[in-house]
Amino acid sequence: MLADALQQSGLQPFHLPMGIRLNEALRHKSPCIRCETCDGFPCLVNAKSDAHIMCVNPALEHSNVTLVTNAKVTKLETDASGRTVTRVIAERNGQTETFSGDIVVVSASAINSSVLLLKSVNEKHPEGLANSSGVVGRHYMAHHNTAFIALSGVPNETVFQKTLGINDFYLSNNEWGYPMGHIQMLGKSTHDLLKAEVGAPAPRFTYDWIAKHAIDFWLTSEDLPHPDNRVTLNRDGEITLDYKVTNGEAHKQLVQKLKDVLHKIHCNDKVCYCNNHIFPDKLFLDRAIPLAGVAHQCGTVRFGNDPQTSALDINCKAHDLDNLYVVDASFFVSSGAVNPSLTIMANALRVGDHRCPVLTHGRPRAMARRTNTARSMKSRLRKLSLRRDWCSKAKFMTWVASCTRMFQDSRDVTGSRL
Ligand SMILES: Cc1cc2nc3c(=O)[nH]c(=O)nc-3n(C[C@H](O)[C@H](O)[C@H](O)COP(=O)(O)OP(=O)(O)OC[C@H]3O[C@@H](n4cnc5c(N)ncnc54)[C@H](O)[C@@H]3O)c2cc1C
Ligand code: SF4
Repeated sequence: MLADALQQSGLQPFHLPMGIRLNEALRHKSPCIRCETCDGFPCLVNAKSDAHIMCVNPALEHSNVTLVTNAKVTKLETDASGRTVTRVIAERNGQTETFSGDIVVVSASAINSSVLLLKSVNEKHPEGLANSSGVVGRHYMAHHNTAFIALSGVPNETVFQKTLGINDFYLSNNEWGYPMGHIQMLGKSTHDLLKAEVGAPAPRFTYDWIAKHAIDFWLTSEDLPHPDNRVTLNRDGEITLDYKVTNGEAHKQLVQKLKDVLHKIHCNDKVCYCNNHIFPDKLFLDRAIPLAGVAHQCGTVRFGNDPQTSALDINCKAHDLDNLYVVDASFFVSSGAVNPSLTIMANALRVGDHRCPVLTHGRPRAMARRTNTARSMKSRLRKLSLRRDWCSKAKFMTWVASCTRMFQDSRDVTGSRL
């Protein structure tokens, strides 16, 4: 198999941690049916461990939780002092509605959270809410990503392909003195996906053949924070994204590295679909994800200790306000080179614990005492249905290293330890 071949070439491929509710031992009890359209698609049988399944639905079981749908928040208003958000203005079904609460948590992701703050200008906050530092909207990051297809000489019959990761080039090494990034498998290409992506007319059998022989990879390199990579609003209030590539050479090296590795590998397993030479024709297609690919957006409302250089304090509360939190991908000060969701989730749990005594008027104090240690994060991630065997120590430590790095970067930015 590909994993064996990669191992034989000296790499250490590992199983990706996946948030899907698959019971391999008792398949008849498994919510996940291992279908062909997992990656990038909603799950039609509710088997993904996503926010909807793991958090929103269980929360709605409580009588004191209300979910308001179809509402677009357009502005946050403050009291005369500018320290407290008093009204949340939303458009809903063509009407304006207002909401209020002791605590307001913005969680619209990096672009829309910064946009909401920038739109919420008032006398006390002329540059936008929580923006006395001027950093709101700045340091936009979204990873350098490439979708990479290697065309195998024989058909690839894999149904569920997003299972392997390679971190051998994550840190600097002797070959190239800088980190290159992370490689993982991607959901399997299909005729329709390829056609939509390429957009060019071609005979059906062309896309069919490519889809059948494709082995798909996703390559991620770190996007470095730059103040001029920025979300702003133009005169008409439309969102503008200014962006210059920050770490392009690392990503180029990573793409080349994967090509080199795949050129070399052989598979001696006679039952393996890939025969003796996995990629006999050395056919590779790679496409860098363009600016519009904002899936991994982060960094526009950064946290830190210093109100001069960050919008949020280390608990993700706005430095400039007493009751406003921003809890989503925008708090990142660096992006690492792995998928962002686990870090976003871990931080949300951490901030939730910090707010717990206030939100619950002091009842579950034991929860508030829980610390932000690797152990508690690990156990909570398990509760989020990450399968135990996929959450092995090595993989978990990779994730912890990425979190630790981010916290260290924050310390570097702010000049003091978090
Ligand atoms: C196709 C795709 C595949 C991905 N695959 C992976 C993966 O495999 N692993 C991984 O780790 N990450 C993956 N990601 C990235 C991951 O989904 C994001 O990093 C993560 O969801 C960001 O979380 P968030 O809380 O910042 O924002 P989101 O999850 O985007 O939540 C923001 C919410 O705010 C709402 N909103 C926005 N503006 C407003 C407003 N003005 N008023 C009211 N509501 C508003 C949005 O509708 C949305 O529900 C993928 C992303 C995409 C698009
Ligand atoms: S979409 Fe993913 S989680 Fe849902 S059944 Fe298919 S493979 Fe399983």
